[in-house]
Amino acid sequence: MTRGRFAPSPTGALHVGNARSALLAWLHARAAGGRFVMRVEDLDFGRVRPGYMERQLDELHWLGLDWDEGPDVGGPHAPYVQSQRQPLYEAALRRLAEMGMLFACTCSRRDIAGAASAPHVGEEGPRYPGTCRDRRVQAGPGSLTDFGRSQFALRVAAPSGPIPFTDELLGPCAFDPADEGDFVVRRKDGVAAYQLAVVVDDAAMRITDVVRGADLLSSTARQILLYRALELPEPRFLHVPLMLGPDGERLAKRHGAVSLGELRDAGVPADAVAGWLASTCGLAEPGERLHPSRLIERFNVARLPVEPTVVTEADLRLLRSTDAVFRPDGA
Ligand code: GLU
Repeated sequence: MTRGRFAPSPTGALHVGNARSALLAWLHARAAGGRFVMRVEDLDFGRVRPGYMERQLDELHWLGLDWDEGPDVGGPHAPYVQSQRQPLYEAALRRLAEMGMLFACTCSRRDIAGAASAPHVGEEGPRYPGTCRDRRVQAGPGSLTDFGRSQFALRVAAPSGPIPFTDELLGPCAFDPADEGDFVVRRKDGVAAYQLAVVVDDAAMRITDVVRGADLLSSTARQILLYRALELPEPRFLHVPLMLGPDGERLAKRHGAVSLGELRDAGVPADAVAGWLASTCGLAEPGERLHPSRLIERFNVARLPVEPTVVTEADLRLLRSTDAVFRPDGA
């Protein structure tokens, strides 16, 4: 049985690019007759904003998506909010420590940025220069907590060498985890980091197909490394293209009111938004309006674009003029 998921971070409003990824993940699961899971990734406490989880879920429902398991509906793998799942991450960290894969790192961001041997700037900032690599965490009771919750991050000593995988849309891919450097699996505040939490949760929730934005493509290699180390079954991966603004930059607030909530508040009907999103990826005709359920039969991975979608001013104008009620300047 196919099990798909969407895993939003409640750090801000869902923009139309996020909404399209959610729609495609949902269609992928539903077209296979599978189940769909909603999981909220709220571990980035500094960026999580109160009320956004509820807002995001509400907006996705408005768009016409539903889910069989999630924070608001429960399910056999509850809780579906990552901040409530820390014991699972701790267990995985202990296993990684037993395998000698973790080291305790005291470096600050400034240390890393300033290290003379850190010339490489990866997708996620300067590559970790390996300063603390020799401080391997010893396996054994209490070893993780002995290192203190407040002073040490735990990093995986990333082996070098490409990890190949097949993306269901993009075909054969390979990334070397060492390119981004040794990565954090538990932050200095004691909380699990994204790369670990996503693997533990997708495995625990029996996710068979991870459909998400292409910004996470290179993370997949690090995640596969963790699946293998933890002896967890690897899901299939499908990375959908990002949506870019008219200037070719990743879609952001500055491109105008492109969040789902703003469209809704302005009175643009959900089926116009769903139809437009589908039209940007070959699943609907321009101007078509439909409920996402009507796309299930049409869904076909082969029809999806592999290149990012540039949202032009004309697209935005068209969407904004739907029923002539949406005015981005609030006029
Ligand atoms: N929570 C991540 C995000 O909002 C997505 C993680 C994933 O889909 O693997 O970017």
